[in-house]
Amino acid sequence: MKMSPEGRLKRPCLPDGTPIRVPAAFAVTEVNTGSWRLERPVLNVSKCSRCRICERYCPLQIISVGQEGPVIDLHFCKGCGICANECPTKALIMRPERDGVSQGGDSR
Ligand code: SF4
Ligand code: SF4
Repeated sequence: MKMSPEGRLKRPCLPDGTPIRVPAAFAVTEVNTGSWRLERPVLNVSKCSRCRICERYCPLQIISVGQEGPVIDLHFCKGCGICANECPTKALIMRPERDGVSQGGDSR
């Protein structure tokens, strides 16, 4: 079933409409998830529409989208690729860590 753009932005909720809260703060403060990463999201800012879908879908909630597009905290990014998979314009793509990109910092 194809989901509408509006449907993709809805947060998960219980049948009665109560939002399901994901305890992402626990994961990013207690676990060095950045050390798990084999690939990292890389931004092509010219393709970014600032739609914030990546921000909503990141399971660790470590993306924040501003005027310049998304900033990703790579200290905690585990390289799952969900942000790149959900990006409607393909502004985010996953690149292997071994491609000469530095460790840590943000995605730019
Ligand atoms: S990177 Fe993609 S999903 Fe994220 S704000 Fe830009 S266009 Fe939207
Ligand atoms: S790859 Fe994207 S969705 Fe996955 S943890 Fe990193 S920033 Fe979040």
